[in-house]
Amino acid sequence: MKKLLVTGGAGFIGANFVHYWMKKYPADKVVVLDALTYAGNIANLDSVKDEAKFTFVHGNICDHALIENLLVEHEIDTLVHFAAESHVDRSITGPDAFIKTNIMGTYNLLKAAKKVWLDGESILEGHRFHHVSTDEVYGTLSLTDPAFTEETAYAPNSPYSASKAASDHLVRAYHHTYGLNVTTSNCSNNYGPFHFPEKLIPLVITNILHDKNLPIYGDGQQIRDWLYVEDHAYGIDLILQNGRVGENYNIGGDNEWANIDIVKTISKLVEQEFVINPSLATRFPNAKAAIAQNTESLITYVNDRPGHDRRYAIDATKTNNELSYKPKETFESGIAKTVSWYLNNEKWWQSVMDGSYQSWIAEQY
Ligand code: NAD
Repeated sequence: MKKLLVTGGAGFIGANFVHYWMKKYPADKVVVLDALTYAGNIANLDSVKDEAKFTFVHGNICDHALIENLLVEHEIDTLVHFAAESHVDRSITGPDAFIKTNIMGTYNLLKAAKKVWLDGESILEGHRFHHVSTDEVYGTLSLTDPAFTEETAYAPNSPYSASKAASDHLVRAYHHTYGLNVTTSNCSNNYGPFHFPEKLIPLVITNILHDKNLPIYGDGQQIRDWLYVEDHAYGIDLILQNGRVGENYNIGGDNEWANIDIVKTISKLVEQEFVINPSLATRFPNAKAAIAQNTESLITYVNDRPGHDRRYAIDATKTNNELSYKPKETFESGIAKTVSWYLNNEKWWQSVMDGSYQSWIAEQY
């Protein structure tokens, strides 16, 4: 039985991981620590919040005393670190928060874990600090370059990826210098339920439903490897169970897609859903108009993001071979599930988008 501290567990991937974990390991104790920034949403944890094994703590990973207390009070043996500022565009306009949370926050967690797990009367056997990172630390690829492996040199290009790279190095150093049991996963772009609507896939779905333009950066030919979020949780699970400490593991979906093709695929899927389920036209009257004239006509090319990386692609051979990892979803099956989730969870994304969630949360805390 494990006792987990999950940082950033009210965010997109963290919440999906908590659902995955609590379903698969119901005897484990799960404590979520989350600052509930604009990207965190306590409603993402509605289905587990009343379970006896679950605790939610509203707080910041930069708060050293809080982290130390949580590790001691809940006898945490496994820390899974998702909390981060995660949106590249926001890192370009305001890097400060990225430096603070992604670098200083990670350092703070490492410092607290070392103090509680290594520096007490005895070392806590079997402890684990798992750090969730990104393939963006490796930089960018041309169309013909081989995919990133765990041996690829770091070459981050945005303040976001640079801050994640710095945190990866700190995690590594805490293993080599102090012997902390760490593992790091570097994964590709995730998609699935609870994805904040500012990101490409949910933005496209919700914009079609509102008959709004579908903005595409530059020529839309940027290529990303897409990973269904539950497959990411599964990969982390395997690393926690069987990964070697001190190692990095790439987790990929084996699904390289150009942004423009993603947008076209989603447009078709939404159109198909409206044919299969005519009641959608009543629920989303604006989309009805868009669909009548072909949703692809909503595509609008906008100025490219400064320093926009051309292609990311993950070579997950090490994780596949060593841990028998294989994603369960293809892009086609995962994106169909995702479109369906957004069509059936309008209340969730409306509350995030119209600010009612933000006002509600301000009243709660
Ligand atoms: P997200 O932005 O949806 O969620 C981040 C969560 O962290 C939010 O709940 C937020 O409230 C919380 N948080 C932010 N600052 C905090 C702080 N100082 N203290 C405590 N909590 C804080 O992000 P996500 O997409 O779920 O990403 C999770 C992790 O996975 C991040 O570390 C990110 O770098 C990494 N990652 C994401 C992707 C992706 O496609 N989304 C891909 C690769 C890696």
